Amino acid sequence: MTATTHESLFPAQPDSADAVLAGLDPEQRAVATALHGPVCVLAGAGTGKTRAITHRIAYGVRAGILQPASVLAVTFTARAAGEMRGRLRQLGAGGVQARTFHSAALRQLQYFWPRAIGGEIPRLLERKVQLVAEAGARCRIRLDRNELRDVTGEIEWCKVTQTVPEEYAAAAAKTGRDVPRDPAEVAKIYTTYEQLKRDRGVIDFEDVLLLTVGVLQDRPDVADTVRSQYQHFVVDEYQDVSPLQQRLLELWLGGRDDLCVVGDASQTIYSFTGATPDFLLGFRSRHPDATVVKLVRDYRSTPQVVGLANGLLGKARGQAAAHRLELISQREAGPEPVYSEYADEPAEAEGAARRIKELIASGVRPSEIAVLYRINAQSEVYEQALADAGVPYQLRGAERFFERPEVREAGLLLRGAARASTDPEEADNTVPQQVRAVLSSRGWASEPPAGSGAVRDRWESLAALVRLSEDFAAARQDATLSDFVAELDERANAQHAPTVEGVTLGSLHAAKGLEWDAVFLVGLTEGTLPITYAKTDEQVEEERRLLYVGVTRARLHLSLSWALSRSPGGRGGRRPSRFLDGLRPGSAPRGARGAGAGGSGGVERGSGGRKRRGPVLCRVCGRTLSEAGEIKLMRCEDCPSDLDEALYERLREWRMEQAKALGQPAYCVFTDKTLLAIAEVRPGGEAELSQIAGVGARKLDKFGADVLALCAGGEPGGNEAAEGSSEETEEEAEK
Ligand code: ATP
Ligand code: MG
Repeated sequence: MTATTHESLFPAQPDSADAVLAGLDPEQRAVATALHGPVCVLAGAGTGKTRAITHRIAYGVRAGILQPASVLAVTFTARAAGEMRGRLRQLGAGGVQARTFHSAALRQLQYFWPRAIGGEIPRLLERKVQLVAEAGARCRIRLDRNELRDVTGEIEWCKVTQTVPEEYAAAAAKTGRDVPRDPAEVAKIYTTYEQLKRDRGVIDFEDVLLLTVGVLQDRPDVADTVRSQYQHFVVDEYQDVSPLQQRLLELWLGGRDDLCVVGDASQTIYSFTGATPDFLLGFRSRHPDATVVKLVRDYRSTPQVVGLANGLLGKARGQAAAHRLELISQREAGPEPVYSEYADEPAEAEGAARRIKELIASGVRPSEIAVLYRINAQSEVYEQALADAGVPYQLRGAERFFERPEVREAGLLLRGAARASTDPEEADNTVPQQVRAVLSSRGWASEPPAGSGAVRDRWESLAALVRLSEDFAAARQDATLSDFVAELDERANAQHAPTVEGVTLGSLHAAKGLEWDAVFLVGLTEGTLPITYAKTDEQVEEERRLLYVGVTRARLHLSLSWALSRSPGGRGGRRPSRFLDGLRPGSAPRGARGAGAGGSGGVERGSGGRKRRGPVLCRVCGRTLSEAGEIKLMRCEDCPSDLDEALYERLREWRMEQAKALGQPAYCVFTDKTLLAIAEVRPGGEAELSQIAGVGARKLDKFGADVLALCAGGEPGGNEAAEGSSEETEEEAEK
């Protein structure tokens, strides 16, 4: 057995229903054989929830208990749905619908629209933001970019929680939402946005669900048709179901209870869109007769990865955390997670690319490696670094594989070639040889083209088809090109994409449910994870869960990294994500002032015992500092920074005002290094503040109250900037 546990491309299909069960542990088997009535699986990452439900469906179908067409399996991302269809097909249950809520609803809506509403279904709006901006302008409300994003988010939240504009203010207050603008303004923009959509004859993403719910509610005939088609429902990732999706699910069920849900409250990462683990956690009280199964064995990850995952969860707070499940790895020991700090983002990306190259050289397939980040904008520097390192990568999800133009075209050509060579005697060439010959005319070559971009993308698609033909021929030695074309058709119907051989670049959100041998979690700094706009405790907890989801995607190799600056030569003021405090080597849990985390590199954040003029020790690693700049910072330049960025910004603004009032350059108030040290130490009183290099008695007297007020999160005031020169020799020396 190799390091991976994933299914190969063409595994032998289980030859009976019982053989389907053979791949499950006793608890998973209990899930798979509970084919009627409500079933709820509460289990942590990698414990085989998705495996249990796919096997459950396959077992039901293979045993003749479930009609394939009567089963609807719903999951969260198109990619996960594609993955599920692939797994079902491999288990011999190809005819089952596995979709996202959205795509299942859209399909039904398209089908029923002419009958239920009449005419053509309106066009689907691709991007809301523009229309929201327009709605804002109509209401004469100016929104900056962040507000626009946040107001759009609020509108989405309203729609999935079925909150009408008039109710927004009250609903937002009740749920403690951090409203981006006056709720009355948000409500006004929301109303206008809806009006604009109607005027233009378009619907948005949420409308698809809302309209489907509306039709099913109002038209019993339509609801009956849907219910007679689907009798068994399975929902994966149920912790992230929104009230609107739940409503749709209830309408599909129509009072029946053949429903199996699986989820992990610790992986709730879509609450910002209105999703909630309440439906998962309250399943048993809504269905007192439910079969409830817990899975605890983690089959995916090594004890090292699982250890970190458990450590992260151990620090989680809130409702989802109360339901956390300690994972127990079933795998052999593997390498420890690797933590790396870099000076800037390009260096971080290069470091990752270098490590990825090493992994590939050691035999890990590129498709078994992922680089995951918090926001999509982070991808660019990784695309560049991987392209420079000559490592293939893929950005697009594989789910649309068969819709790619080059794949469609290749399909047509292969079909043509298969028709032209019907005489099996004539086909001396193997199927892969024939496929390669056909695709060579369309840009396939044995070596990838240089660089990245569209040409490379196209080559990757064709190369995936070539590889598929190789695997296919190896699995079925007497197969002809026509057989391969039939396989492609079947896969296209089932949207069962072949593996595109490239490193996956994707967001943490999109990685849900997936797994790779090697995972690189990058950009783990304060401000990115948690993201700056996560302000409330709940929002920060969701960010922590996002990291948990990231960590638990790794089977074997896990790398966590961050960069102290965005660009080379930056001021290096970033600090690693607080979620890693106490977990990464050399860090202490936040709040544990002055206490090292054990080992050689314990973090010392406190200032107790440090002598003003005596040897100054690095607060982070304890080394004696000799450089003036480092002494000011009270840490080595390259030790991780604890900077409170927001505080630093506030201090800089305050300094500018002071300098203006004094008619002096800013550094005469405090130098950058002193401000940085203040923002890192966040002194709680005068004694602590006076320990910071650059804060002499006069400065303390003049600015102390202001600085301490800012550090305490308040506003400076009452402490007039005094007249006169304020230079201090040590600051001069540093200039
Ligand atoms: P997530 O919460 O991340 O969605 P999950 O609970 O759905 O995780 P799966 O993706 O179903 O977990 O399984 C994780 C991995 O463990 C998969 O590679 C799966 O094939 C493997 N696995 C699960 N159960 C078993 C088992 N009984 N024997 C061998 N491998 C298993
Ligand atoms: Mg899963």
